[in-house]
Amino acid sequence: MLRHAFAPLLLTFALSAQTLPPEAERQLARDIYKEMVEIQSGFTTGATTPVAEAVAARLRAAGFPESDIFVGGGIPKKANLVVRYHGSGALKPILLLAHTDVVEAKREDWSMDPFKFLERDGYFYGRGTGDDKAQAAVWIANLIRYKREGFKPDRDIIVALTADEEGGGPYNGVDWLLKNHRALLDAEFCLNEGGWGEMAGGKRISNDIQVSEKYVLNFRFEVRNKGGHSSMPVPDNAIYHLAGALDRLGRFGFPMKTNDVTRVYFERMSKIASGSAAHDLALVAQGSQDAMQRVAAMSPAWNATLRTTCVATQLEGGHAVNALPQLAAATVNCRVLPEDSVEYVQSTLQKVAADDQVSMHLVAEMTKGPASPMRPDVLQAVGKATDTLWPGVPVLPMMLMAATDGRYLRAVGIPTYGVQGFFMDRDDIRFHGRDERMGVQAFFEGQTFLYNLVKILSQPAALH
Ligand SMILES: [Zn+2]
Repeated sequence: MLRHAFAPLLLTFALSAQTLPPEAERQLARDIYKEMVEIQSGFTTGATTPVAEAVAARLRAAGFPESDIFVGGGIPKKANLVVRYHGSGALKPILLLAHTDVVEAKREDWSMDPFKFLERDGYFYGRGTGDDKAQAAVWIANLIRYKREGFKPDRDIIVALTADEEGGGPYNGVDWLLKNHRALLDAEFCLNEGGWGEMAGGKRISNDIQVSEKYVLNFRFEVRNKGGHSSMPVPDNAIYHLAGALDRLGRFGFPMKTNDVTRVYFERMSKIASGSAAHDLALVAQGSQDAMQRVAAMSPAWNATLRTTCVATQLEGGHAVNALPQLAAATVNCRVLPEDSVEYVQSTLQKVAADDQVSMHLVAEMTKGPASPMRPDVLQAVGKATDTLWPGVPVLPMMLMAATDGRYLRAVGIPTYGVQGFFMDRDDIRFHGRDERMGVQAFFEGQTFLYNLVKILSQPAALH
């Protein structure tokens, strides 16, 4: 393993001084990151409390008073940590959020131990290195640095490291804190996961900021029938009713449209893309339905950005090989644009199914938050912090197809923006997968980016 022994040495030449924090700050962030990754905080088998306690100990050692540190959660093993760094109070606080639970990882699935922090060939490996312990570690390292440097923000800076983002459930830290300790999280706006830097072929393409997200509805389509002997079939068959409805659903597409966020996304994307795609993306931003059709056909992600989608994901039916089915049922999973209502989606599905034998009911509805407004102060600050580190790299506002804890905050009126500045190869995102990793340089550049961004947002006058 001689090769690896030299890697850190070689790396110091590759890292550019201006984009990186001072050596001591890098070391601190790396130490916190390592400590967090090595605590097994798997969503189902692990605990977040040791993460919260380890961070609390570091904060106390850095001089944060006990009264500004909160550790607690829905159950003893699912604790959250909230810490407040006091500003002048001229402005409402800013909330910096990251989750400390991770998706489970099995040693046998990985090339290395997922709960041993490993630096190799320019990457940090381990479960949570991307999702979401990098941001958690950086929030804490930077907060300790602000305190050491005597930074005087115009607003309180609150960092919340929370439990059970993965899979949600009753001990979700953001939900629990909002219900039990609302004042701890009260803020003018929040920065969270959900937006990162995209690279392709080693080149930085865009720094993404997630402004809104789709929400999830699951419907159960169900047909019941009196059944009978299969030797005497009749046209009225539960499986055929269901199959017909699903076939019609498969051919159906919800209307395509843009909103405030996706319009800007397509407009900026048109400047990044090349050829006829660039032209079509620009037309989409101007509202052309024809161009939307072409762009949707180019990429499932663009299709999902332009419309609500509903897709059959599970089937059940029949009870014997020689009996007419008494039941046929399907789960239909919908990813809904923030501006489309539950009622609209359900009534549309009923029209598409076009069969009153097919009943439809909502199985689960996730908390839905509105899109965060495109706040000029936040977008300008992200633009400035991006341009300082990576001149010419555009900031791309995004609507995420998946969901984050930001929805709980948006639902109570705290606009939430997903922004990290950690650049990664857009074709090799390993969140939730095997051999999860984060580039060493990407991590430390993100540390600088978030340090600058939070400083700008906590002293907005510095923007002008
Ligand atoms: Zn996450």
